[in-house]
Amino acid sequence: MFNKILIANRGEIAVRIIRACREMGIKTVAVYSEADREALHTQLADESICIGKASSTDSYLNMERIICATIATKADAIHPGFGFLSENSKFALLCETCNIKFIGPSAKIIDKMGNKLEARNTMIKANVPVVPGTKEPVYDVVLGKKIADEMGYPVIVKASSGGGGKGMRIINSAVEFDHNFSNAQRESINSFGDNTMYIEKYIANPRHIEFQIMADNFGNVIHLGERDCSIQRRHQKMIEESPSIAITDELRTQMGEVAIRAAKAVKYQSVGTIEFLLDKNNKFYFMEMNTRIQVEHGVTELVTGTDLIREQISIAANLPLSYKQEDILIRGHAIECRINAENPDKNFMPCPGKITNMHIPGGNGVRIDTAIYTGYEIPPFYDSMILKVMVYDRDRPSAIKKMISVLGEVVIEGVSTNLDFQYKILNNEDFQSGKVDTHFIQEHYDM
Ligand code: ADP
Repeated sequence: MFNKILIANRGEIAVRIIRACREMGIKTVAVYSEADREALHTQLADESICIGKASSTDSYLNMERIICATIATKADAIHPGFGFLSENSKFALLCETCNIKFIGPSAKIIDKMGNKLEARNTMIKANVPVVPGTKEPVYDVVLGKKIADEMGYPVIVKASSGGGGKGMRIINSAVEFDHNFSNAQRESINSFGDNTMYIEKYIANPRHIEFQIMADNFGNVIHLGERDCSIQRRHQKMIEESPSIAITDELRTQMGEVAIRAAKAVKYQSVGTIEFLLDKNNKFYFMEMNTRIQVEHGVTELVTGTDLIREQISIAANLPLSYKQEDILIRGHAIECRINAENPDKNFMPCPGKITNMHIPGGNGVRIDTAIYTGYEIPPFYDSMILKVMVYDRDRPSAIKKMISVLGEVVIEGVSTNLDFQYKILNNEDFQSGKVDTHFIQEHYDM
């Protein structure tokens, strides 16, 4: 097992990883930017080291500085968390070259799955159903339009290097094509330095269903059931739950097997997520794989009684999986609400600032992952997610009731948050009866 792990991240996920390491008897090093001197992860780790100015490019995205900090503190592995460098194959390769263990899959696997178009083609070869669409890259708007015309509208154009909803446009008719394709491509060039696009058929009102998988270095691959992440705003998840009420035991087995096949097709090693779209006729399509731990991993932990971060660290330390497929039983129901420092009345504009007062509830089946505290100043430079509220109960209606009660008790003063908006969704009749798809927020709240 590792002696010391450096955590190349910040916020609640850095804190989550520090806690897991402590439980495993592993020492921790936090890296922090000048804006994060007072941050919780900086304070909780055994050692902390400042790696640069506030902007991410000068700190949490600065590979050389992170590697130097690892060498200086004699850490033997780096946990990248999510976001930042977690899916950066160059960074994973740099770690490999410097003989530092990157806690995640190899650079080669990240590359294979990180390029969405290549991942699609790998999946087609492995007999995994993908959304109907192009196999070849599309660079040119004229060719793109010809393909879309033949495919039939609506279509969705996507950047091959895309992520976080960027470089993606839904196109409803031929007249909208040129403008939207060019915008998506420009966004991709600006965000990812890549003009490679592809086109998929747009699936009407799907659910976003993703499968958590675990794979060790000995060829063992298992799945831990699904998460339903259909409640999204502008393609960004807001509420996640497990299990999904749209998935029968039979469908779970079927999709789980496909997810395992997808992971095996790239000889995957680590924890990871296979994302699918599920249409109204229960047909499912591979969308992409995330080769890292996800924000919403906690809901899977709650219903399976596992610890995905500890398992991810053990896999990286070359230990076999501690679970077999038959050990994984999904019990009860878990829901997560992401609480962001943002203003729903001003188009969800980020709202950094000082937390002047707060109250975080606890209780039976309540889990709150956060790194904020009273007096903490949320810096404006990073993601606006400040709190993950998770609840666990015997079934979905009880979990919803519990979430309503917990959200009603949370107090965060000093900054605006989307707490009330989340509360509204939880009280929505259609949400409660499970009538949800990825258009839920747009259709119910006109945004
Ligand atoms: P990103 O990697 O940028 O998050 P994804 O490819 O994972 O992008 O898609 C994000 C969301 O966009 C999905 O959860 C879904 O809501 C929507 N989406 C993506 N592709 C399609 C499609 N072909 N049809 C319908 N919705 C889609």
